[in-house]
This record gives sequence, structure tokens and C-alpha cells, in this order.
Amino acid sequence: MKKKILITPRSFGKTNDVPFKILEKHGYEIIRNQTGEKYSEQQLIDIIEEMDGIIVGLDPISRKVLEKAKNLKVVTKYGVGLDNIDLRAAKRLGIQVTFTPGANDESVADFTFSLMLSVSRHIKQLDEIVRNDCWGKIIGTEVYGKTLGIIGTGAIGKDVARRARGFNMEILAYDIYPDENFAKKIGLKYVDKKTLLKNSDFISFHVPLTDEMYHFIDEEELKMMKDSAIIINTSRGGIINEDSLYYALRDKKIAAAALDVFENEPPINSRLLELDNVLLSPHCGASTIDATNRMGLMAVEGLISILEEKEPKYLVKI
Ligand code: NAD
Repeated sequence: MKKKILITPRSFGKTNDVPFKILEKHGYEIIRNQTGEKYSEQQLIDIIEEMDGIIVGLDPISRKVLEKAKNLKVVTKYGVGLDNIDLRAAKRLGIQVTFTPGANDESVADFTFSLMLSVSRHIKQLDEIVRNDCWGKIIGTEVYGKTLGIIGTGAIGKDVARRARGFNMEILAYDIYPDENFAKKIGLKYVDKKTLLKNSDFISFHVPLTDEMYHFIDEEELKMMKDSAIIINTSRGGIINEDSLYYALRDKKIAAAALDVFENEPPINSRLLELDNVLLSPHCGASTIDATNRMGLMAVEGLISILEEKEPKYLVKI
């Protein structure tokens, strides 16, 4: 009987069909999420029972889902953020987890800079002005030479820092594991959280959503920031308390924010949608042809390696 593989990410194989061809060549039966949205926990519970492997995006791979899977050997994360997978349950049930580190770093770093520049120069509003047959100007702020605070100097944080060099920015950074060699090479300075928040013109988040990082930015932290500060979040929504962010933006305690990620995705009924000083995007920091091609190939490598009892290149060590 053919092994069954569930594939949930909508962009999987979209820019290049090679990942599908590889799976077909190995004789797997492919089941795709056709709903146009990420699965709910219940939808996964209903479908997971017979699956041997799953390539997953942001869908909730909870304990209940994993316990329902009778044949599951591998969960392959199409990306790097593992917060939607219950790793402890996977370990207990003997299910291996692979991921695609490094596949989308540069795309997310590019996107972070796109957001920073777009918010600073009000690109969205300028486009609207011209479309509405107007010709008004909006005065923005420069990014060049400003102070950038990077929270999390892993793969993406470092790529953002490299870009910031070209913009002659002063770079402050915060990480539980500071990389002093990198700091020396790039010329960034590791500081404590408070110093970073108080002194940065732009604050960009590149940390995983762990229990420790949940609501890492709340009312108190927002109060420490400059009233001209601009927040960029391409990591995970839960890192910033969205209620506190709403009040800080509404009351102009900080200048603006650009958010690619939200506590609930999509952010239906979020009050953030009412504000003009927030730029919103639907979790697409990694959505480039380049990253999609790489993630597809790395995902199938991990999945097939586990199913064929070989050593995968990118195993999550649980
Ligand atoms: P990474 O693992 O390479 O880096 C994470 C960094 O955060 C590490 O340096 C780590 O030491 C630091 N860190 C972890 N816990 C911390 C804590 N409690 N306090 C301070 N620092 C802490 O990850 P990455 O590849 O750079 O990705 C960062 C995050 O970006 C991912 O976890 C994911 O949530 C998000 N992401 C978003 C998109 C998107 O489409 N928007 C795409 C890819 C990744």
C-alpha cells in the first residue's frame, strides 16, 4: 500500500513542481489541503489518522492531533518557526520532526527592510493619494543612519543586521545567546532589553515564540520606547501584546508599526485594523520564489529521509 503524505502549505510546489515529482517518484500518495486556509485542530484530527508523513505550515500540530495519528513517522515543518508543533508530544510518540532552516532567511530579512522603508516613507498612503487623483506629499523619516534595535540575532536577525550596515545604521541587539564574533565583524552592540528599547528608532523582532517570549513587549516596554519609534514584527504575533500595542499606537506613544504576524491569524476583528499608523501584511515574509523553491526541496528531503530510515539533513533535536 502506498504511504500517505499530507501537505498543508498552500505555497508548497507552487513555484516549482520538482518537490511533487520527487514525492511521486518515491511512490507516495499525496493528499493536499484544498480548503484555501490553514487547517483547524479538528480538521487535522479528522484527516491525520492514516497519514505516514505530513509537511506542515502554520496549522496546529497539537498533542491531540499527534495522538490521533496511527501511522505518523514524521512531521516536516515547511519553515523554521516550530511553535505550532507540540514537540514534546512528538518525542513521546516517537514521531520525528524536520524543518527547513536557512531556506527563507534572506527573504524575511528583505521583507523586514521593505516594511521598515515602507512605513518610514508612507508608501501605502502615497500610492492611495495618486490613485485618488491627488498630488499631496507626505513627509516621512529617513532610515539611513538611524538606530536599529534587533531582538534575536539568529539567522534572520543577522541577515537584517548585514542589510542595516549598508544603511549606515547604528545597530543595538538583544539575544540570550549573544554572538560576540558576529557583533565585532558587523559592528553591532549587544545591550540589555531596556537600553535597546529606549534608544532605538526601529525595533525589529527575530525571536521564536516560546513561553519566555510570550508578550515580551507589553505596556511597560512600549512606554520605554521613543515616541518616534517604529516597530517591525516579522517573527510571531504573540511576542507583542496586541492590546497594549493598539493603545500605544492610538495614543501616539510610538510612531508606527509594521506587522507581518499576529496573535490570531488572520487578525479578524483586531482593533489594530482601525489604525492608520500600522502597516499590515498576511504572514508573507518568506513568500518569494527563491525561498519557496528551497523550502520545498528541503522539506521533501527531510520527509523522505525519515520514511526511508536515512539520516535527514535538518532534524529538529527535541
Ligand atoms: P533562529 O533560531 O536562527 O534565531 C532566533 C534567535 O532568538 C536566536 O539567536 C536565539 O538565541 C534567540 N532567542 C531565543 N529565545 C530568546 C529569548 N528568550 N530571549 C532572547 N533571545 C532569544 O531563528 P530565525 O531563523 O532567525 O527565525 C526567527 C523567527 O522568525 C522564527 O522563530 C519564526 O518565528 C520567524 N519567521 C517568520 C517568517 C515569516 O514569514 N514572517 C519566516 C521565517 C521565520
